[in-house]
Amino acid sequence: MLKTRITELFDIERPIVQGGLMWVAKAELASAVANAGGIGFMTALTFPEAEDLRAEIRRCRKLTDKPFGVNLTFLPSLRTIDYPAYIKVCIEEGIKFIETAGRNPEPYMEQLKSAGIKVVHKCTSVRHAVKAEKIGCDVVSIDGFEAAGHPGEDDVTSLILIPLTRDAIEIPIIGSGGFADGRGLVGCLGLGADGMNMGTRFVATKEAPVHDKVKQALINHGERDTRLIMRSLRNTERVLHNQTVDQVLEIESKGDTTIEDIAPFVSGLVGKDMLEDGEMEKGVLSAGQSMGLVRDIPTCRQLLDNIMTQAEAIIKEKFAQTIT
Ligand code: NAD
Repeated sequence: MLKTRITELFDIERPIVQGGLMWVAKAELASAVANAGGIGFMTALTFPEAEDLRAEIRRCRKLTDKPFGVNLTFLPSLRTIDYPAYIKVCIEEGIKFIETAGRNPEPYMEQLKSAGIKVVHKCTSVRHAVKAEKIGCDVVSIDGFEAAGHPGEDDVTSLILIPLTRDAIEIPIIGSGGFADGRGLVGCLGLGADGMNMGTRFVATKEAPVHDKVKQALINHGERDTRLIMRSLRNTERVLHNQTVDQVLEIESKGDTTIEDIAPFVSGLVGKDMLEDGEMEKGVLSAGQSMGLVRDIPTCRQLLDNIMTQAEAIIKEKFAQTIT
């Protein structure tokens, strides 16, 4: 057992978090993580309307009696997103934990806090972590440059970002970006975090609702097989390297790129199709450097058991032998 401020705050057994994963973090995955002793966040934007999110929250409750949360990402989108409607549903359905990501959640803080919701803000820099603490967030999830999806524009790795964030704020921290096993968990806690977030690793689990070819691709590709797209728009996304990504990078290399130039390639709806049919060249798929550490497709229970066994062995045996 590893007891930290994160296990206490979420009332969970293991300091392991499945953060929001667009199109993937549905009830099957969040409930499997919860039942394995961690906490999972379902991504609100995966559901086209707020009422679809309500149905998914209810479905998740049928699959687990353990805590789970909802992710709300505030980033530029090709769709018009009714954030107040999603928040209203979360409050009405008694959601206790919300992970916000991307832009500052300040406009919604009063509403969330007065509903008794604990807010985890996911960000990519120390200055944004300091701001999150100042506006009343309960936890910061700090995303290193290794991370899948949107790792920000500063390119600071978890090894530096987590301890600097620890030095700058008092509230609990979840380390994110580059983590996939028990060694990562020990490292993450050692750097000053109170819990570890994994994204890519959770996509290659039995319960992740994506095509098997997607899970296999994460095994077959290594730590060097990601690329950064949309850097020219200051909305960098770390994705699995494929032909579509090369096309996007070629367009970006010409300069003066607009979102319209690349929208058909980067559209989330194309990415959603790719996750469902396993046609891996079709669109873009968020993937982190931790892909190099993904070698199997366990259940979430097996994955979390393995991580805890490995982490506890390092702490109890390796460290005990090392200290003289
Ligand atoms: P989408 O189809 O709305 O957009 C596709 C991509 O283009 C996204 O990365 C989006 O941020 C980007 N984009 C859209 N309009 C833009 C603009 N005007 N300027 C710069 N970039 C622009 O995306 P989706 O897959 O439907 O996802 C919905 C939201 O969830 C998006 O905001 C997306 O960024 C976000 N998301 C977050 C993560 C994460 O790691 N937290 C991962 C995937 C998607």
